[in-house]
Parts: sequence; structure tokens; C-alpha cells
Amino acid sequence: MFEKIVIANRGEIGLRILRCCSEMGIKTIAVHSSADRDLIHVRLADESVCIGPPQSTESYLNIPAIISAAEVTDAVAIHPGYGFLAENADFADRVEQSGFVFIGPRPETIRLMGDKISAIETMIKYGIPTIPGSDGPLSDDPGKNLELARRIGFPVIIKAAGGGGGRGMRVVYSDAALGNAIAMTRAEAESAFGDGTVYLEKFLENPRHIEFQVLADHHGNAIHLCERDCSMQRRHQKVVEEAPAPGISDEARHRIGELCAKACREIGYRGAGTFEFLYQDGEFYFIEMNTRLQVEHPITENITGVDIVKEQIRIAAGEPLSYKQEDIKINGHSIECRINAEDPVNFTPSPGQITQYHAPGGPGIRVDSHIYNGYKVPPYYDSMIGKIIAHGEDRQSALARMRTALSELVIEGIATNVPLHRDIIVDAAFQAGGTNIHYLEKKLADAGG
Ligand code: ADP
Repeated sequence: MFEKIVIANRGEIGLRILRCCSEMGIKTIAVHSSADRDLIHVRLADESVCIGPPQSTESYLNIPAIISAAEVTDAVAIHPGYGFLAENADFADRVEQSGFVFIGPRPETIRLMGDKISAIETMIKYGIPTIPGSDGPLSDDPGKNLELARRIGFPVIIKAAGGGGGRGMRVVYSDAALGNAIAMTRAEAESAFGDGTVYLEKFLENPRHIEFQVLADHHGNAIHLCERDCSMQRRHQKVVEEAPAPGISDEARHRIGELCAKACREIGYRGAGTFEFLYQDGEFYFIEMNTRLQVEHPITENITGVDIVKEQIRIAAGEPLSYKQEDIKINGHSIECRINAEDPVNFTPSPGQITQYHAPGGPGIRVDSHIYNGYKVPPYYDSMIGKIIAHGEDRQSALARMRTALSELVIEGIATNVPLHRDIIVDAAFQAGGTNIHYLEKKLADAGG
């Protein structure tokens, strides 16, 4: 097993990785920006190295600084967490070329899945259902594009091949709007992702977002850990997640899960990964693969009993998977609420000092967060400050535990989206289960006026 791991991330996920390493007897090196000296995991790590100023481009995205920190501390492996460099194939390449182990898939796999068009082409090859669409880049020929959109049927969605984080997408409802929408998405993609390649898909009007967690090792083994429902979204960003997805049959779960595991074996995937699907009228449609640990991994840990971060580290060290598919059984239900430092009504970020913090607890409640009394939420990074995760013997019990946990949670000094979560958890449609990806935005629009 690795002796020392660099944690190339911050916040709650930095702490999650540190806790896992500590359990496994692995020493940790926290690399951090000058704004993050007071993070818990920086204080708890065996060693810490300041790699740059607050701006992430100068610190958490600064590849040479991270590699140098690994060199001077004699680290063996680097865990990228999520966000920042987690899906950057060039970073994975540099890590390996510098003689360290990247805790994640091979760089070429990250590259293959990082381009949504090559990801879709790969999935088609292995029999995974995809959304009817261009199955490749759109051309510069307006006539051809119009013919394609008509054949697929409006509405369609134009998406950037290199897109991520809910950006680089545009829905088109009519012939007349197509040309302009393609041009605008291209221009945006060019400036945001440095790649103007765009493709087209049928826009599904009321789908749910359902994703499958997979694990694969270096020895050709791959399994799935069932699915999560992440349909409660705002601006294509997940707000609440749950596992398993309400109303999905065991047959569908194992059929799609097994297709994902098989694709992993075929492409020589290694590590943890997620196959994201839209689900409508009983059908699954692949949209993209994430080649990293997900924010919402704890709900899968709750229902399967698998420590996904521990498996990632074991796999990276060359060990075979600790589980076979038949070992994976669903135990109860789990729900996660992402707590953001933001105004609950207009969603503007709300950095600043936390003057009062009380975390919930009790049976089935897990709190993954780096905040504490007096902690100052810096303005430079993502506004997520933690996650409340509830586990119960069934969905009803998980909902009741989450409701209780949210009523106990106190965060003062900054605005948070806790009031929004308290609303969602008692919402009749959410309680019934199976709301679609537009539900939250509609609910917010209705409440706003
Ligand atoms: P990103 O990489 O930016 O997260 P995704 O391709 O995963 O982009 O899509 C993010 C979200 O956008 C989905 O969860 C869904 O809400 C919406 N979306 C994407 N493609 C479609 C589509 N074809 N029809 C309807 N909604 C879509």
C-alpha cells in the first residue's frame, strides 16, 4: 500500500480523503492555497504545503506546484478529489510521467470520456443506450444541420463536446432558431473550453437524472454499485440526491448496471466512475461519464456498505476489487442535501465568517463538511460547504431522518440554502418520489411569483 498520498483538493472532499487515508494507515500531504491555511484537513495532515495564492488557477490548478509538492515530500500517489484537476488528462499524464500514481483512470480513458462525443461513440459500441442525436460533431452546413434536427424532431439541445458543470448547452424549439443557437454554443464553448466542437441531441422534456456508480480494477474486474437519482437540480447542478432511485426495478437496475460494468471491462477502465443517464418513459439514455469520485458518493456508500474512496486507493495501488457483483446488496435508502453558502432566494454566493455552527447527529446521519465555529468561507471557490447524508431502512425513514437533521442544523453568520432543503424535504411531490429534472426550477419559479 502507498506510504504517502498528496490530497490535491480542498474543503469537505479534502477531509474525506484524509479520513480515509488515516484509517488505512497512509500518511497525508495537504497541498493548499494561502487562503486555506485554516482548513481542518490542512491542520490534520501529516504535512502541508502552500502551493500558491487564493486564485485556483495559481494553486489548485497549478500542475507544476502540485508535482513539486509531491516531490519535496516524497509522496507516492496523488488523489485529485473532484472538480479542479480531477478530470484533467494532462494532469494525470504529468503525475505519471513524474513517477507518481494518479488515483484515477488512465489519462487516455479520461481523454476518451472527457470528450462527450467520443464518450457517446464508445457507449454506442458497447450497447449502452444513448439519446437520438448527431452521434458526432455538427458540420458547418446549415442545410444538413436543419435536416438532422427535423429528422430527430424539435426540441433539440446543442451541447459542447468539451462542456461540463452544466455549461455549454442550448435548447432549440424551432427551425428558425437553430442556426443562431449552434453559432452561439460554438462561440461559448470556444471561449470556455477552448474547443468549439458541438453536437446535437433530442431534448427530453421531462426526464429524471439517474446515474450508475462503477468500480474497476487493473485485473479486468468491474462491478456496479447500483444507481443514484440526482433529478433535484437547479441550473443543471445537483441539489439533492438519493439512492436507490425511486421506482426503478431490480431488473432494470441490473441490466443497465451490468452494461456499465461490461463497458468498463471493454475499455480497460480502472478506479471509480459514474455513468450518467437521463431516464424517461421507462428508458435509459446515456449522457456522459464522469471519470472521478462524485460529490454524491456517500449515498452509495450508505446503501452498499462499500467505502468508495478506500476502493479507489486500493485499486490505484494495484489491488483487486474487494467485492464481487453478487456481494453488492442494497441496504435501505439514503438521501444527500448539498449545503451551499448562498442566498436561499437569489442564490448569490455568501462567503464570510461562520459565527455559530451546530451539526446534526443521531442514527443514520452523516455530515461531510469542513466547516466549524469561526471558520471563514473564502470567496474564491465553489459555494458548497458540506453535505448532510441520511440513511434509513427505507425511503420514508431516510426522509424523516433528513427532516430531523435539517431542523437541528444551525449555521449562522452567512446565508445558506438550508431553508431551501427544509422546503424540498417536506415537498409532497418529492416525498412521493420520481420528480424530474425541471421540478425544482418550476417550484422556485412558482414560489417567486
Ligand atoms: P455537464 O457535463 O455540464 O454536467 P450533462 O451532459 O451531464 O452536462 O448534462 C447536465 C444536465 O443537463 C442533465 O442532468 C440534464 O438536466 C440536462 N440535459 C443534458 N442533456 C439533455 C437532453 N438531451 N435533454 C434534456 N436535458 C438534458
